Amino acid sequence: MKNGTTHLFVPGPTNIPEAVRRAMNVSMQDMRAPDFPELVLPLFADLKRIFKTDTGTVFIFPGSGTGAWEAAISNTLNRGDRVLMSRFGQFSHLWVDMAQRLGLDVECIDVEWGEGVPVEEYQRRLSDDKGHKIKAVFVTHNETATGVTSDVAGVRAALDSTGHDALLFVDGVSSIGSIDFRMDAWGVDLAITGSQKGLMLPAGLGILAASEKALEAHKQSRMERCYFSFEDMKAPSATGYFPYTPPTQLLHGLRASLDLIFAEGLDNVIARHHRLAEGVRRGVHAWGLRLCAKEEKWWSDTVSAIVVPENIDARHVIANGYARYRTSFGAGLSKVAGRVFRIGHLGDLNEVMCLAALASAEMSLRDAGSRIEAGSGVAAAQEWYRSEIARNEQML
Ligand code: PLP
Repeated sequence: MKNGTTHLFVPGPTNIPEAVRRAMNVSMQDMRAPDFPELVLPLFADLKRIFKTDTGTVFIFPGSGTGAWEAAISNTLNRGDRVLMSRFGQFSHLWVDMAQRLGLDVECIDVEWGEGVPVEEYQRRLSDDKGHKIKAVFVTHNETATGVTSDVAGVRAALDSTGHDALLFVDGVSSIGSIDFRMDAWGVDLAITGSQKGLMLPAGLGILAASEKALEAHKQSRMERCYFSFEDMKAPSATGYFPYTPPTQLLHGLRASLDLIFAEGLDNVIARHHRLAEGVRRGVHAWGLRLCAKEEKWWSDTVSAIVVPENIDARHVIANGYARYRTSFGAGLSKVAGRVFRIGHLGDLNEVMCLAALASAEMSLRDAGSRIEAGSGVAAAQEWYRSEIARNEQML
């Protein structure tokens, strides 16, 4: 018999708010009905606010973040095009792998896991590329595997200072809607996200925004594409009708999740993610443990990857959390398997939920043989949350 709730602290899929769940519980409707655009059209306008773009065009594909990666590449580049990428975690690795498999000529900079996009090295390579052979520069804004947030604005500055006209691709799957992201201000050409992270929905939507420059590049792009074609997927934002069957319930859920985000205020959502993440980090440091993200500038506000002591296997921590305390933590992926476990702190959550994650992690760590002091992480986070909430009240 299991009482109470289970605790989901993986960095996506995230908790679905009750209002979103209810909004999705609707009868099926005709996707060609005269009033279907009333649901669809405002979603595009509102997603632009999430991407912080006035001039970009939003595409919604039934799919996931990986599909949105493929849509971005196959609609704007050509086989054999040189692209500049960096690899420092499982998701940046997978994007490199996709680019290679789609026939791009990938110039990949391997960076130690725990670091972020090597902005200075990007700058050097762009400046050396006098003939502008590099057609696109890729940034994984938030590397979910290592809890590392990279400097997109810095990469834009590197492009501008070298006078380079490459397209800027950004994977914002675990950042957009939770961590500061500014498509227009940072001159991002293709921004990618999925529905199951900051948007607090089930997986099933691959969402991207393309700049005017990306749409110009699209005209010269001859890569094979069909399901992910921009031409076909232009229709919904203009007419409200999809070229193939849309996941209608997810669109209703998206309506509800956007309403929740705007009711809180996008910038407040971002500030809340910072406050919650900082409490988790304080807890981790009070245990005497460290984050996989090597420097503070890379600390992620949506996921903390925690390095376990040498004598502990992080897989045991995760197994204990799940079996004994009904808590799901994120696993260490690939190179960091067994070395880290992750606490996802994004989406629909609050201070006390983060305290529960820390309490459960403390017990799971101790059960796995770690000597961290019981209650130390929770206490550190409690004090941070108390002081931040009091400070926010004073500012009102
Ligand atoms: N990029 C990042 C940063 C991710 O965290 C993920 C998934 O966790 C993906 C891409 C892949 O997205 P999806 O699983 O929705 O295909």
